[in-house]
Amino acid sequence: MPGSKSKRKIVVIGAGIVGASIAFNLSRRPDVDLTLIDGSRPGSGATGHSFAWINSFSKEPDHYHDLNRRSLNMWDRFARRIDAQAAVTWGGELRWVSEQSDADDLRYRVEVLQRRGYGSRMISEEELKELEPGLNVGKFAGAEFSENDGHIDGPAIVDASMRQVKASGATVLTDTDISGLTKSRGSISGVTAGGKEIPCDVVVLAAGLGVTGLAEMAGVAIPQQKSPGVVGKTTPLPPIFKSVAVLHTPPLNAERGPIHMRQMADGTLMIGEGSQESVSSDDSQEHADDMLARAVERVPAIRGAGITPVPVGYRPMPMDGLPILGFTGAVPNMYVAVMHSGVTLAALVGEFAAIEIADGVPVGIFEHYRLSRFES
Ligand SMILES: Cc1cc2nc3c(=O)[nH]c(=O)nc-3n(C[C@H](O)[C@H](O)[C@H](O)COP(=O)(O)OP(=O)(O)OC[C@H]3O[C@@H](n4cnc5c(N)ncnc54)[C@H](O)[C@@H]3O)c2cc1C
Repeated sequence: MPGSKSKRKIVVIGAGIVGASIAFNLSRRPDVDLTLIDGSRPGSGATGHSFAWINSFSKEPDHYHDLNRRSLNMWDRFARRIDAQAAVTWGGELRWVSEQSDADDLRYRVEVLQRRGYGSRMISEEELKELEPGLNVGKFAGAEFSENDGHIDGPAIVDASMRQVKASGATVLTDTDISGLTKSRGSISGVTAGGKEIPCDVVVLAAGLGVTGLAEMAGVAIPQQKSPGVVGKTTPLPPIFKSVAVLHTPPLNAERGPIHMRQMADGTLMIGEGSQESVSSDDSQEHADDMLARAVERVPAIRGAGITPVPVGYRPMPMDGLPILGFTGAVPNMYVAVMHSGVTLAALVGEFAAIEIADGVPVGIFEHYRLSRFES
């Protein structure tokens, strides 16, 4: 009889952008009794340290490109569902290079993307300057524009998801330590949080870097590599870009490498160096000042801004760089969702993981990302 079936007790651990998105999608379901737990403040993990470019520019192989691409296309709808449209900024990603060998690499990359139907194209110096007249281009060898990329405000997306989760009547526990997972006949029957045991039918580990330690409590190994990254945030500025959302500049010289930047709704610029995967632990003021100085050389309108280093952030990063998604073989009611590019992927992962978790139906596109690939 409708309404008579008891609800499935699902505990989601981790309220970064991935856990918040999964929890939001589960909270829409009347057949789920949801508890969301975070050991700290929601959004304060990698999500709060992220550059947050939503894209599928350098994602390999094909299936991982497709996964990111599909998620990129789902962002507007996800933002609408959680009433956070203002936290998504479109306008495309623009980059140029100064050396011919870099231009050849860029042209090759763009061709690979175009073969997949991705909205990237090589553009002329004139078009580059038309798109962003405020750039100090210097030596020009080639440029690329990916018109459909954007960026998001990760903490704002988490906040909006949390509001919806709370409004659904779900239990939300923040700043609450997990001290144990109780196993009964090979499955997890309870999560000990804040000293109390919460019974569960399914536990979802979406705690980013913390997934490895949590899974260990159940005797499951989740291999992750250490991947620290650093960005800086400027003081608020008037609008810096005419239209693009994300800018990648070429290096100034061998010592002063490439940087990337985006402007947030509050006028602050987020600045990082290298690529979105660059490993760095230098969150000193001196290093942030140097990134700002490089940005000023390429975008003179930034001159006069101050910069604060964001403390080093640790990317959740499975050993082979690809997401781990799905129930584990060893503990059949323990679901894992850990990945880099979680900002790009959160729109899709939240929706598709909720199907696997609540309905037990495996989603085909996730088959590439099962934990079992590490077992051979
Ligand atoms: C410098 C940098 C730049 C990046 N740039 C991009 C980019 O441009 N585009 C992109 O798509 N991605 C980017 N990323 C990656 C992206 O930010 C992450 O993949 C994403 O934020 C991961 O989200 P998450 O929810 O899985 O993890 P997190 O945001 O880390 O959230 C995990 C949550 O779990 C909680 N938690 C952890 N352990 C426990 C525990 N034991 N018990 C209870 N709770 C726990 C934490 O408090 C936290 O709130 C970047 C990351 C960094 C650091």
